[in-house]
Amino acid sequence: MKKSGKEHSIAVKILPLAVILLFAVGALLYGANRWIIQIDILGDQTQYVEYGAEFEDPGAAAVRKGSIFSFIRKDLQVKASSNVDPEKTGTYSVVYSATDGSSTETASRTVIVQDTVPPEISLKSDPDAYTLPGHEYEEEGYSASDNYDGDLTDRVDRQVKDGTVVYTVSDSSGNEKSVARTIVYDDRTPPELTLEGGDQTVTQGGSFEDSYTAIDDADGDITDRVTVDGTVDTETPGDYVLKYEVADSYGNKSQAQRTVTVSPKPAGDKIIYLTFDDGPGPYTARLLDVLAQYDVKATFFVTHAFPEYEDMLAREAAEGHTIGVHTYTHDYDLIYSSADAYWEDFEKMEQVIEAQTGKRSSIFRFPGGSSNTVSNFNPGIMTYLTQDSAARGYTYFDWNVSSGDASNTVTGSEVYQNILRECQMYKENVVLCHDVKSYTVDIIDDVIEWGLANGYVFAPLTPDSYTAHHGVAN
Ligand code: ZN
Repeated sequence: MKKSGKEHSIAVKILPLAVILLFAVGALLYGANRWIIQIDILGDQTQYVEYGAEFEDPGAAAVRKGSIFSFIRKDLQVKASSNVDPEKTGTYSVVYSATDGSSTETASRTVIVQDTVPPEISLKSDPDAYTLPGHEYEEEGYSASDNYDGDLTDRVDRQVKDGTVVYTVSDSSGNEKSVARTIVYDDRTPPELTLEGGDQTVTQGGSFEDSYTAIDDADGDITDRVTVDGTVDTETPGDYVLKYEVADSYGNKSQAQRTVTVSPKPAGDKIIYLTFDDGPGPYTARLLDVLAQYDVKATFFVTHAFPEYEDMLAREAAEGHTIGVHTYTHDYDLIYSSADAYWEDFEKMEQVIEAQTGKRSSIFRFPGGSSNTVSNFNPGIMTYLTQDSAARGYTYFDWNVSSGDASNTVTGSEVYQNILRECQMYKENVVLCHDVKSYTVDIIDDVIEWGLANGYVFAPLTPDSYTAHHGVAN
């Protein structure tokens, strides 16, 4: 009994000791425990948001727990603050914070606002547009716009290669877009077929040299592809029609034709070439009526003196008369001051003639004639010009019969008498008249009737006619 009582007393002594020990360990552990705030970001740590879309924050959860007594947990409120601007691409963050009153913890999420939509390119296209083979493509137009950057037309890169145009553009986020256009190559324009000199008149026994060009917008010079149907027999008077045809490599055809008139060599050996200087003018139409009435062809050495009558040049050419250059200004001091001045004046008249008749001339008459002395202020100019004109392919004509209407003769009857008297002196007569003199025009019908009645034929000058050169005096 005694022993048992003793054992009991030991147990009684140990029990409180164990309890004290237990509390001591507990207190020790509790003292070592730390309170931790843990924030859990919901969803992805890094979130991608397309530009323009709304950013919806999946949020975060926070809890306070012990580092040792982790089963002691307390949910905390989370505050979120964000600088995300969905209208602007970039990298943003959302910061989450939670506090338990004594300490605060934060965590952050990365938000990337991005643009993954490429720009749009739209091509303008003209249904009638085409590019000539071998020619550069002419841009019909294009534009580029981007959902983020707006108009990017200026940034489009354009590459032309192998019949294709490739347009490429990138937006500021590096999204690239390319579109291609196939170039339509075609040629829908026929070649331009030009007959030098148009309709022509050749005197029997003379020569006709055919001259023409064919230029195509795509093929260039295709003159050597022109076919000519018809021939001219310059020994046999008549009208010869020449037909020209040419096709480019796309099958566009051009056709043209001209009539070459071979005029009979004057029968017999008496010929009158009526020539009229200084027009066209107010009386030219009347003169042309008279010539037409007798079917007489004459020659006009023309000027720019009466611009309002220059349409008469077209009529002269159409009615079979010969047109040659006289002068644009008829200003001796100007035109004989130098060869350059002479040819400049000359060319201006050629252009008037070409504008009215469609062709240039091959014959001319010097103002004052080749024997003039009005050019003496520039010694040797006529010697030079007569040679220079031949080098330029022109034939000049003087006259051996003067009607006198440029000088003292002021009545039709005197003009008539002058012509008759001198024409009886020669077989070939190059008659100088002026269609700007009314009284000369008045008596031309009488001259024609006299000539026809006396065995003369009337003919227009051609480059191979009698030139009646005077001989150069300067
Ligand atoms: Zn003159």
